[in-house]
Parts: sequence; C-alpha cells; structure tokens
Amino acid sequence: MVVWEATHDNGWTTRIDERSDGSFGLWAGVSAERGMVDSIAPSVEDAHRVVMSWLRAATGHMQCSAGCSDWDIRSRRTAKSA
Ligand SMILES: [Zn+2]
Repeated sequence: MVVWEATHDNGWTTRIDERSDGSFGLWAGVSAERGMVDSIAPSVEDAHRVVMSWLRAATGHMQCSAGCSDWDIRSRRTAKSA
C-alpha cells in the first residue's frame, strides 16, 4: 500500500491512500481535524486530479507554486529488509 502526500503553500495537505481493493482514499485539509473530503477514486490518476480539484474549489489554489511540496510517495508498511 502506497500513500501520496503533498503540502501546499496555503497550509493545506493533500493525501491519497492506496487501498487493498485497488481503490484510493482521498483527503484534503488543513489538519486531521479539519479534513474536508474523503472519498474513493478508481485510479491514481483520477485520485490526483480529484483531490487537486477539491483543493482548487475549497481554497482557490489554482496551481502549485515553489512553496508546495512535490507528491511524497511512501509505503505504509515498514521498510522490508533487503
Ligand atoms: Zn499546491
């Protein structure tokens, strides 16, 4: 399972969680308490597009700037030994 996470220059974080059934959970918000959205997308391309459209709609964040992070990709599992 893979998690994609990016932080944005307006303080928001966007996160996509790969699920065991092959779908993706989406989240965007300022903090865990204020997460705005939580849904499912059928593909990772859709997931990225949808979560960024939420960010645009909610905050007017039309495009990422140098103050935004790239999508940080990490595994939810602990690193397996080589
Ligand atoms: Zn951004």
